[in-house]
Amino acid sequence: MKFYWPLLVAVLAVAAAAASAEDVVGRPIASWQPGMLDIHQISTGRGNAGLYILPDGTTLLVDAGELAGPSPQHTPARPDDTRSPSEWLVRYVRHALQHDPQPKLDYVLVTHFHQDHMGEVAAGMPVSPRGYILTGVTRVVEDLKVGKLLDRGWPDYNIAAQTESPFMKNYLAFLKWQVKENGLQVEQFLPGRNDQVVLCRGPRDYPQFDFRNLAANGQVWTGRGTDTEHRMPPPETIPRKNWPDENVLSIAFRLSYGKFKFFNGGDLPGIRQNSPAWYDMETPIAKVVGPVDAAILDHHGYLDAMNEPLVAALSARVWTISVWDAYHPTPSVWERLQSERLYPGARDIFATDVHREAQTAIRDIDRLASSHGHIVLRVSPGGDEYRVTIVDDTSESHNVTKVHGPYRSR
Ligand SMILES: [Zn+2]
Repeated sequence: MKFYWPLLVAVLAVAAAAASAEDVVGRPIASWQPGMLDIHQISTGRGNAGLYILPDGTTLLVDAGELAGPSPQHTPARPDDTRSPSEWLVRYVRHALQHDPQPKLDYVLVTHFHQDHMGEVAAGMPVSPRGYILTGVTRVVEDLKVGKLLDRGWPDYNIAAQTESPFMKNYLAFLKWQVKENGLQVEQFLPGRNDQVVLCRGPRDYPQFDFRNLAANGQVWTGRGTDTEHRMPPPETIPRKNWPDENVLSIAFRLSYGKFKFFNGGDLPGIRQNSPAWYDMETPIAKVVGPVDAAILDHHGYLDAMNEPLVAALSARVWTISVWDAYHPTPSVWERLQSERLYPGARDIFATDVHREAQTAIRDIDRLASSHGHIVLRVSPGGDEYRVTIVDDTSESHNVTKVHGPYRSR
């Protein structure tokens, strides 16, 4: 029998490449490769941070939370408290981008102005030579190369709910210096558009990618073109004492890659608690978002979020929860996520951690597919299928502890 050697070599090379993209329990997570879409929900125990590596290698960091700890109501710092959450975060990002000889975050997106998404200011935190405190986003931009920063307030921040708070003052001082002296680009995130986060390294190779801005500043996409609906009355007509909580103004987006779809709604609420009707931002989003394969829970699964219309509309196969508190998630949210009345079929829920009080409050919390670790959604080239890889967060081993899937995109 005669082999055609070049063909055999080619077949083996393809098999080896496929094998190297597989994640193996007990070994470090495989590197991102062109065509893959990775969504890392990074576990620091101190706030939100999501690293997105898009199919052409474009990079996006969604939030960089940093809470000063520890507190009995909070989960432990990960890997530990020998470094600040944002220092751990920067190190995680550098590792995840090691395929890139010149690692850069093309976009940093701040969903809203709360400390667990942008960085708290507290006594004893390090100060940059430029005069502002290094925490959360300010640390990320100090330590990593960043292309563009997107938030909901640029340029005047006149609908920021807490402009006088120390963390907001610090953020504004940081922006002033970075824009003037370091050329940082900053842009306001505008609902309805799909041209603010784009593939910027090789867009022609991946025409099936789309990033749609769904909501910000009380305004929601209508599903038609770039049209939006203003849910919130004009800010100047609202007495200052009735101003909405910052969460109502949060950014939301939907990302699509081929058949795969993912939703992130920041800390948007959907359940009114003695508040005006327009505080419910989830119901209008539910009308336009459509089903997704995976989503992160709004407001960490807190009791004012993930209302019935949104859970039913998203009908996700995979839910992820960014946890740092005893109320992430609350039992009522947990019930809705499990409900086959809201949508039929299987679903897996992954949490970055579970506080011991949530373990007591939620009887069947052991139904979580994973209850600690970094959560990496890894979508295969083209978007037809994806896996969920859990990575150890108690050290910097980057070792895989679990792999779920493959799941078929719908
Ligand atoms: Zn939050």
